[in-house]
Amino acid sequence: MALIISVSGVRGVIGEDLNAVVAARIGAAFASGDIPRGAEVGIGRDSRPSGPALSFALAGALMNSGLHVVDFGVLPTPTLAFNIRTLGLGGATMITASHNPTEWNGIKSLGPDGMGLPPDAAAALAERYHDGSHTFVDAMQCGRFRTDDRAVIRHVDAVMDTVDAGSLAGIRNAVMTVVLDSTNGAGGAAGTQILERLGCRVVPMNTDPSGQFAHPPEPLKEHLGDLCEAVRREGAQVGFAQDPDADRLVVVDENGRYIGEEYTLALSAMYVLSRRPGPVAANLSTSRMIDDLAEYAGVPVHRTPVGEANVAAALSANDGVIGGEGNGGVIDPRVVPVRDSIGGMALILQLLADSGLSLSTLVDQLPRYAMIKTKFSCPADRVPAVVQQARESFGQYDINTSDGVRIDFRDEKAWVHVRGSNTEPIMRIIAEAPDSTQAQGLIDRVQDAIAPALA
Ligand code: MG
Repeated sequence: MALIISVSGVRGVIGEDLNAVVAARIGAAFASGDIPRGAEVGIGRDSRPSGPALSFALAGALMNSGLHVVDFGVLPTPTLAFNIRTLGLGGATMITASHNPTEWNGIKSLGPDGMGLPPDAAAALAERYHDGSHTFVDAMQCGRFRTDDRAVIRHVDAVMDTVDAGSLAGIRNAVMTVVLDSTNGAGGAAGTQILERLGCRVVPMNTDPSGQFAHPPEPLKEHLGDLCEAVRREGAQVGFAQDPDADRLVVVDENGRYIGEEYTLALSAMYVLSRRPGPVAANLSTSRMIDDLAEYAGVPVHRTPVGEANVAAALSANDGVIGGEGNGGVIDPRVVPVRDSIGGMALILQLLADSGLSLSTLVDQLPRYAMIKTKFSCPADRVPAVVQQARESFGQYDINTSDGVRIDFRDEKAWVHVRGSNTEPIMRIIAEAPDSTQAQGLIDRVQDAIAPALA
């Protein structure tokens, strides 16, 4: 397994290809970008046991390059992003491998806006890493080091500032029981704090940031059986699961049913649009539940290429009120323009309080769709031909080609999205339709149509 260096950062396995030397080189490459010498930059990490080793190596390289370092320790990615903006930092590095197993780690570079570096800047950073021609400052110019343990409080305060007074009273009156599964990642402290501040009774599960993940950390149904059971046992109104860097959020209803990642954004949007209707942004692979909600509210949906920075850009350009991705990533642009499980929990609890309905009833109010995801091998140089073929074959429908090709069959309330992977020689097909037979039918139709381009 070789180190993966992509526009989303560096990922690798500790002891095999990722270590302190790599981290220091990434730090040097990061420092020789656009950040002015003498600026202060942040470092944060998720709970993985390898986090401190990478963090200290990175900090050393940054200070040796003339940057001052503020070390936030273990915290969620959205919390780091929020603090970059609030403290006016020159940028930050987040040490996390997100939902990957504990032996993995990664380094993600964030700009002064709190977001991942734009693709051209990320590519330039990778080039500087490979080229290794970095020069360090002399003794008198080395940067200073300090720690900051208030990052989570600042973020939780900011989320609380967005909570509607009426909705807050409703949550407190209802005295909701919430089970929080933080998978022993970085989200336990912030998650517990927001729930307690909202007045919920919190049943913590795996909120200790040990990095010894109690279950495989991706918030999928098959990994959350204990959470579902705890929700039933505790008579809770809702169960929440976070991934290790706490940017993704998944919801379990009061019956202990895993309702699926797509519903996190849909439920959040349901609340926001009921209170403050405005434009919505979502990537092309996100469920069309968002389109139904937006249509009902009389607001537009801006579809973007996959990647949270694209959604954030669309929110900013269109004065959007809520956005995100179907993987449980909710972006409330009032707090921070990245996916944020802390803000997401606040929105969903406000929805519960405002509506006076149970989660399962709210879910039943949403139109039901079936989504099917599949992939096939395709060399990167064939991807444009496949996209072109799909485009020609379905020219009579609504087509969006900003990221592969998405075909909307509006009359059938269905769509298909075909796109090449950024990291593997594969293409993915995602289809959504009112039922799984129709969704599979669309996948078959697309596969038939693109077959000539793969021959
Ligand atoms: Mg994550």
